Amino acid sequence: MFSFRRGRRRAVTHQLRKIAGRENTRTEPSELLAYSYDATFQQRLPTAAVAVQNTEQVASIVELAANEHIPVVARGAATGLAGGSVPPPDAIVLNLAKMRGIKDIDPDDGVAVVEPGVITSQFHAAVERVGLFYPPDPASLRQCTIGGNLACNAGGPRCLKYGVTRDYVRGVTVVLADGSVVETGGRVLKSSTGYALPHLFVGSEGTLGIITEAVLRLIPLPRGRATALVFFGSVEAATETVTASFLKGLAPATLEFLDTHTLELVSSELPTQLPEGTQAALLIETDSFEATEALDALQRVVAIARQTDVLGIHLATDEEESSRIWHARQAISGAFGRIAKGKLGEDVVVPRSKIANMVRAVEEISQTHGLPIPLFGHAGDGNLHPNILFDPSSPSDLLAVERAAIEIFERAIALGGALSG
Ligand SMILES: Cc1cc2nc3c(=O)[nH]c(=O)nc-3n(C[C@H](O)[C@H](O)[C@H](O)COP(=O)(O)OP(=O)(O)OC[C@H]3O[C@@H](n4cnc5c(N)ncnc54)[C@H](O)[C@@H]3O)c2cc1C
Repeated sequence: MFSFRRGRRRAVTHQLRKIAGRENTRTEPSELLAYSYDATFQQRLPTAAVAVQNTEQVASIVELAANEHIPVVARGAATGLAGGSVPPPDAIVLNLAKMRGIKDIDPDDGVAVVEPGVITSQFHAAVERVGLFYPPDPASLRQCTIGGNLACNAGGPRCLKYGVTRDYVRGVTVVLADGSVVETGGRVLKSSTGYALPHLFVGSEGTLGIITEAVLRLIPLPRGRATALVFFGSVEAATETVTASFLKGLAPATLEFLDTHTLELVSSELPTQLPEGTQAALLIETDSFEATEALDALQRVVAIARQTDVLGIHLATDEEESSRIWHARQAISGAFGRIAKGKLGEDVVVPRSKIANMVRAVEEISQTHGLPIPLFGHAGDGNLHPNILFDPSSPSDLLAVERAAIEIFERAIALGGALSG
């Protein structure tokens, strides 16, 4: 199956099996299919896929690949939206799913030591059981891995209040491209001398090395949480609520924006009927160490919303109700998949005051190119996700998608924004 240096094929396969075990080394096309894609619509078969179990195995394989000039790609859960874990030609995929140990959770030092294949939501559950909190919460958290989150510097709804993955990384163990192993950072809170090397690897998307262990910062778990879904008659009413809340000193943990098209697509998942004429909604969540404080803060944001064009307010009264609201938010991606075979999820950021302008711009672009572009995002920091839906088998759609994406970037930049994914 190795197409490079033909005569070396058997020798390399033999070496891979020797390092990771025959049962962990896949080379048949039928087996390799599972390692050929991510959450984009790109796909390419690797030459081999190896389920590694520790740093030593990763280092040995990377060294072997370096000597043989074979590309290596790290693979977490392949939920990435940038094609990062889709193998380049003739690559070996390092499947990190078996490296899923949570080696330590230390409340005294406020750190955890984890392997890269740990599923993010499982890590959340493990630290919350002991009263600690790891905030980064990409919407894919039930599938994606901590290693993938570090590699992509994942954010999520809670990053408005708590920051992104990078803010929770204290140290990493990394295998570099020649197979050497680097341990940088550590358990200490203060690290003010020298280069911030752990942070260099965060967001590097696997291009600088393969993260095989991470020391993550934990904070105390907020015990109080209050959630509401507020429906507005205009996009401006929703964004006014966001800016007025900040001006009043309110700092919700989450302020998620959903446009009318997204709301229609997930309407069957909503915990309440979608009010007629709804143009936008905000999913608002506040948290605090005392339950009553969270509810009080939420009611203050809702009072601000009431002064605008509000069409409905659904306040979660308990944990179950709150989960139903979040369920609707997490159902968005699947809902897009149900109406279109192809989806290009774009990622732009604009100043908070320009969200309504960006929403209008995306609507115009959608009409110009005849493609649905539902949009949702994090209203608190102006990070918006326009999702271009299309038919991948249609050449005209593909051309229109490319043009629409470029126009979305241009409009975001013209509004003082940037590309963010
Ligand atoms: C429905 C859905 C919702 C999403 N929501 C969000 C969101 O809210 N916020 C957000 O930021 N992203 C989001 N994403 C994107 C994606 O889930 C994240 O980027 C996630 O961090 C990827 O993790 P993964 O384990 O799936 O990584 P993969 O997709 O397997 O890999 C992603 C990249 O990281 C590299 N990589 C993986 N593991 C390692 C490692 N151990 N060392 C070095 N490099 C490595 C890969 O080579 C690849 O380049 C979403 C995706 C989907 C499908």
